[in-house]
Amino acid sequence: MSQAKAYAAMSPTTPLQPWTFDRREPGEKDVRIEVAFCGICHSDLHTVRNEWGPAAFPIVPGHEIAGRVTAVGKKVRGFKAGDLAGVGCMVNSCRKCENCRDGLEQHCSGGLSFTYNSLDKDGTPTQGGYSSHIVVDESFVLRLGTGQPLERVAPLLCAGITTYSPLKRFGTKKGTRVGVLGLGGLGHMGVKLAAAMGAEVVVLSGAAAKKADAQRLGAHDFVLTSDAAAMAKNAGRLDLIVDTVSGPHDIGAALGLLKTAGTLALVGASPKPLELPAFPLIIGRRAVAGSLIGGIAETQEMLDFCAKRKVFADVEVIAPREINTAYERLVKGDVRYRFSIDLSKL
Ligand code: NAP
Ligand code: ZN
Ligand code: ZN
Repeated sequence: MSQAKAYAAMSPTTPLQPWTFDRREPGEKDVRIEVAFCGICHSDLHTVRNEWGPAAFPIVPGHEIAGRVTAVGKKVRGFKAGDLAGVGCMVNSCRKCENCRDGLEQHCSGGLSFTYNSLDKDGTPTQGGYSSHIVVDESFVLRLGTGQPLERVAPLLCAGITTYSPLKRFGTKKGTRVGVLGLGGLGHMGVKLAAAMGAEVVVLSGAAAKKADAQRLGAHDFVLTSDAAAMAKNAGRLDLIVDTVSGPHDIGAALGLLKTAGTLALVGASPKPLELPAFPLIIGRRAVAGSLIGGIAETQEMLDFCAKRKVFADVEVIAPREINTAYERLVKGDVRYRFSIDLSKL
């Protein structure tokens, strides 16, 4: 066992606080990673505040992990001490079910281990990346190239793959008209990735103040969702919308922006149900599809794509003691565009 230093939520209503706990020694196929940076995803906040249902406390959140390998088990082939490595939302799966065999480990039906608020293969609770180090089976560790800003790479492990996967699945290429609904952590990665794929990108946001940022991030246009005239003018314009909104919102209004047979890919995980009006769907022959992060191979593909194109998150680096303030700012939409925790300051 080794003692990990961390920030943990002890209950859904108390601030996160310093905590120490035991991590296992690396087993034969495990990699131990010293965490350099960990992004703050809105899912961390949904989870620790019980917004998605009762969670198992204490919880060390964090599934946007970038760091350096410090030790590997005897049978590890892909990593050695000193390598840069990342961990996303999953740390293990059954590897036998149809989804695992298809590279869709995130939909494993035989027992998926999420990075926190979940159980590892040995039955112990998993704890995430707001911590000094983590021990993960090498099959769920991602390779990070050298010479990249790790604080800006960390958010790719969730915000990056969660937007990359639906963009690819729905055929984004040069000239595809992509709307990104909600310009937060996921949204800003969606804009950068869609633009890098050659798409014409339109940001759909409730915050007029984000217009200049949208352009700087690579968007070609900006539509203020509360502006009825602007929404009407853009009716039927888009092939695909990636909906990253974290709370209840008007999905019907967004559907009206899609072309005939366009798709709204929902990745935002509102704790409250969304109202789905029939007419914009059936009149426009449109589809609403869900999407959950991405598989391990696809995550590696995304990281390699980002390294080659120099696509990284825009981050505000914070110290661990600032996590609670960051959460409050996240609730208010006051983040440009991801908080990245510097774990060397633990
Ligand atoms: P975030 O940084 O807080 O961004 C969410 C954005 O949504 C905000 O910046 C805001 O954009 C908009 N928004 C928030 N509340 C809204 C409301 N009630 N009505 C309308 N717009 C609202 O959050 P994030 O980290 O990007 O995560 C976004 C959502 O995706 C969360 O629910 C998270 O749990 C989920 N998620 C899902 C997956 C998956 O695999 N499917 C993976 C990661 C995260 P504007 O100011 O531009 O309007
Ligand atoms: Zn996430
Ligand atoms: Zn499986």
